[in-house]
Amino acid sequence: MKWYHGGLQNPSSRFESWHPCTKNMTNIEDPNKDDSLFAPAPRVRIRTVAGHEAVPYSDAPGAVVERLLKKPVFVHLFTDGPDRVFNADHLATYLGNTLGPNFTVQNHGDFTQFILSQKLQDREEVIRRFAMSKAATKGSIPLSVNEKMQLEQQSIDRDPAVPFREFARSQSLSERRERLIHNDYYETSALGAAFLYLLPESMRTPHDSRRDTVIVVTGRGIGNMESSYLGRPILHMRGGFSYGNVGVVSTTGLVDAPGKPAELGRAYQRGQQLGGGLPDFDRQEYNQIIFEAIRKNGNVLDPKLIEQTIQEMFADRMLHYDDPRLNEAIKGIVLSMSLFTLGEHGQAAQCSTSDLSLGEPDISKFCRLHDAHWQEELLATQIKQPDQPEFCDYHQTIFEKLKE
Ligand SMILES: [Zn+2]
Repeated sequence: MKWYHGGLQNPSSRFESWHPCTKNMTNIEDPNKDDSLFAPAPRVRIRTVAGHEAVPYSDAPGAVVERLLKKPVFVHLFTDGPDRVFNADHLATYLGNTLGPNFTVQNHGDFTQFILSQKLQDREEVIRRFAMSKAATKGSIPLSVNEKMQLEQQSIDRDPAVPFREFARSQSLSERRERLIHNDYYETSALGAAFLYLLPESMRTPHDSRRDTVIVVTGRGIGNMESSYLGRPILHMRGGFSYGNVGVVSTTGLVDAPGKPAELGRAYQRGQQLGGGLPDFDRQEYNQIIFEAIRKNGNVLDPKLIEQTIQEMFADRMLHYDDPRLNEAIKGIVLSMSLFTLGEHGQAAQCSTSDLSLGEPDISKFCRLHDAHWQEELLATQIKQPDQPEFCDYHQTIFEKLKE
């Protein structure tokens, strides 16, 4: 399952977070790209049952609910260095209230601390598993296994309250502090395999009397390395993915992966063409706000200041790191991931998806289970206005029936 795309990105500019234009807009440049939220659905939707009898898989609310109520479900929630603003208890309560009494949601806290305190794996194994999934490079040169292990070791020793992204971006391998590219990013399948491997057996193997699903809210960025037509690998960022019965949602990915407002991308592109480090907006008033901020800073061009100014200018159109709205924004993807990891691969996990042929966000969408490819759609579907329904009729019916 794939969630939200970040699209084309110039890897060398990944750390220039004040320069986000290079990380989106695949949806404009290549609208036919397979960028669906989920892995492609099977052509014939048949579920095989015992005795080789085949029954059609149904997305009807009654059929979905019947499957979900067959056995008690345990949702194991873990954190893994998410943004400081993230509130795991708030999310656990929301999931419990929405999914109804057949679901028990348990917040186990920090994933690594849990694994080590339960003596499920030794430290070296945890370090090794995460190191194997690191996407970091030095320039275009991949890191050695030893280098990755060294970085992961530092990370495991950090204060778990420090968000993973913040820590990873401050790391270096030597006194010379050479720049690491994508040090906060991990390959989705390798990271999924790491979480699954490290989990206690009781959470990852099927039981006769219950079902278990695991949600990890991580601060690690997640993505897939893809080859580009320019001949070098591109990191395709994601908001989340699933691996077996583990759903992983990234607080970094929710900011980095969905397309930012198109106007922002255009402004950076034009700024680059003009040879400067400053974006050049269509709207002159935006350029004025940036000039004014630089003037107030004693005419010193500070990338952090530019980032902050743009964040404020576009506050109602995109999320930023450590954004308090994250606790609302994350609800849809976590609900979707919970249903998907329980085998609900169809409409129940995703009722609609961005129409990329439009080339712009459709902010009339409102259901939390909409697969948003744009920041503006993510905000439209997750940050609820007082008169806005939480779900479409289809999902409203499912969640009501689960509580009957
Ligand atoms: Zn819906």
